[in-house]
Amino acid sequence: MRHLINILDLSTAEIDKLIDIADDIIRHPQIYGDVCHGKILATLFYEPSTRTRLSFESAMLSLGGEVLGFSEQSSSSAAKGESVADTAVMVSGYSDIIAMRHPKEGAPIVAAMHSSVPIINAGDGGHYHPTQTLTDLMTIRHEMGRFDNLTVGLCGDLRFGRTVHSLISAMSRYMGIKFVLISPEELRLPYFVKGKYIIDKGFEYCESKSLEEVIGELDILYMTRIQKERFVSEDEYFRLKDSYILTPEKMALAKKDMIVLHPLPRVNEISVAVDDDPRACYFKQARNGRYIRMALIAKLLGLIATDVNEPQEQAEEIITDKFTCRNSRCITSTEQELPQQFKLTDKENNIWRCRYCETRAE
Ligand code: ASP
Ligand code: ASP
Repeated sequence: MRHLINILDLSTAEIDKLIDIADDIIRHPQIYGDVCHGKILATLFYEPSTRTRLSFESAMLSLGGEVLGFSEQSSSSAAKGESVADTAVMVSGYSDIIAMRHPKEGAPIVAAMHSSVPIINAGDGGHYHPTQTLTDLMTIRHEMGRFDNLTVGLCGDLRFGRTVHSLISAMSRYMGIKFVLISPEELRLPYFVKGKYIIDKGFEYCESKSLEEVIGELDILYMTRIQKERFVSEDEYFRLKDSYILTPEKMALAKKDMIVLHPLPRVNEISVAVDDDPRACYFKQARNGRYIRMALIAKLLGLIATDVNEPQEQAEEIITDKFTCRNSRCITSTEQELPQQFKLTDKENNIWRCRYCETRAE
């Protein structure tokens, strides 16, 4: 049984194959209309979402399966204090596959430890969002025809933007990528992503506070929303919320074949005047989400053979109850009796990171 917690749980060959299947679904939807007959997808959304939950549900219904679930914490037993572990045990008795979104980082890992069916991480706090990345990669392949030799600009909230973290880790497996990180000082990319996927792998990168100054270099501009719900201080959110607004004037400085992506929802970071620009691909990107999730669900249920290499398991050294995670957004802060586990991520410098949220041990 396989889960999708982190985009790196899929090999690049598997991602290519999923995109092939998604493209085939677009061309021949009737062939896939019954693939999940008799199967149930549970969507456990402890945090608000429209797009992701609806696209999972639409994906399962289009495959002939059924869906059940909840869309806010207050309507689930979590409001009564039920743990993620217990919920996973229970719900895996009622369903064949689970998509879970949770405000705490690492919650889907806990679910996967206790579930008897595959778990899909549909977004965990400010950490990862791997199915958004599948959608992003599908759109990049359609529009650019390749994943190599691209200058990728990521703009906005790089600190809390989980889609950014997953996309960078995915792109770090291709050749000749240059990362351009555009954010205010306060919202810079955290080290668990920058160190591991950009610096250690030797990719070229630069950091800039100004979108205008760098937009002309980019092949892809990935815009993001400032993640209001992750800010501790409201004042800080209000100070930073209008940091970047993409307008037709800025688009005039970009390459003719640059593409603009955004995981949506947008607040005001892309002016609606940009929507008619042929380089604006975010609505196409949102549509792709349904088809790639269809391919993913069918694959994880073993109903479609993808027949390509799986990623190689890397044995990790794990230590239990030696350190305590200090990230207040980590699942260890709320899940009672969850052991504090840390993995050795850098042997040479003896750096340990939380197994759930990847915060560094002190
Ligand atoms: N949270 C956002 C929404 O409500 C995006 C998502 O669901 O992925 O649309
Ligand atoms: N929909 C994306 C997410 O759920 C991006 C966002 O909400 O800004 O992370």
